[in-house]
Amino acid sequence: MSTRIRVLDEGVINRIAAGEVIDRPFSVVKELVENSIDAKSTAIRVDIERGGKKLIRVRDNGTGMSHDDAFLALERHATSKLTSEKDLISIATMGFRGEALASIASVSRLRLITCDESDEPGTELLVEGGVLRKAERIGSGRGTLVEVANLFYNVPVRLKFLKENRWESDLIDELITRFALAFPHLGFTYSQDGRLKLDAPPVKSSIERVHTVYSREVRDNLVAIDYAFKDVRVHGHVAKPPYVKSNMRSVFTFVNGRSVRDRLVNSAVMRAFSNLMERGRYPLAILFLEMPPEQVDVNVHPQKAEVRFRKPKVVSDAILNGVHEALMGAPFNPQPIFRE
Ligand code: ADP
Ligand code: MG
Repeated sequence: MSTRIRVLDEGVINRIAAGEVIDRPFSVVKELVENSIDAKSTAIRVDIERGGKKLIRVRDNGTGMSHDDAFLALERHATSKLTSEKDLISIATMGFRGEALASIASVSRLRLITCDESDEPGTELLVEGGVLRKAERIGSGRGTLVEVANLFYNVPVRLKFLKENRWESDLIDELITRFALAFPHLGFTYSQDGRLKLDAPPVKSSIERVHTVYSREVRDNLVAIDYAFKDVRVHGHVAKPPYVKSNMRSVFTFVNGRSVRDRLVNSAVMRAFSNLMERGRYPLAILFLEMPPEQVDVNVHPQKAEVRFRKPKVVSDAILNGVHEALMGAPFNPQPIFRE
């Protein structure tokens, strides 16, 4: 008797699964920085080389990991952030699937150096294509360093789909900007091919961070938003026309502190600006939406960029009216408004 169906070996399974979480250097940076934030870091440094294809390095001063946890961190579905399915409803950390490090390690040469607050020395692990090559105890300050070299060196199809370095690094620039805006109380340093691109020390408020990140021209055109509708609060800043951008990437939205790119949110922002801008022009908007955690499902998308709102109409009205009021001094469509 012969069979044609075989169970895939674990290395292959990991590389396939990796494709869902990690599709380009951008997603590596996103996962690593989210881990640093989850680890309560206050200073995060990101260095990339050649659009992140050659090297991505993220260093933080967070909790670090014990020797045993460092090994576990590289296993699939190993996480310190979720213990049961019901935690998914009120998840407060950015990561929770326990997939990122294992996925990245299966498609790159990954070096992890980490040290927690115990008196034990730190740990250095080197993994190539998912295979552990080196494990050592080394002296190191508290925190974690993850270095990802030669992403997709063992997955030629993925490598082929990457774009030119400039395109890949533009995506990462935008991502770092998002993190910097969302977490003003954390310090971010970012360099590209050895050139420092952002050095944002910790500050107290998001407006101070906006001042570090943007030019004078942008700052002079910003108006503040603070608007509440039912149990949704919208706050942040938008730039007044004529300050406009040529693509949608300048709309930054954060739902309960988490950066999202959501169609409903974007279209509400666009509607608020609809009479103020030419076609093909986009606003600069930095919007923070706050709502009870049970009103938003963040578990829709493996990369967690999209969310699902329980009450989409309330969210879009809150944005539309909030942005419109900030720009024009009145809500878009006067209707009963319940302020907090
Ligand atoms: P997840 O973030 O979904 O838990 P990851 O694969 O990204 O999954 O990370 C696995 C685990 O490794 C995390 O739950 C955390 O305990 C640990 N970890 C990862 N990165 C860091 C870091 N920078 N500092 C401290 N611990 C980390
Ligand atoms: Mg993670």
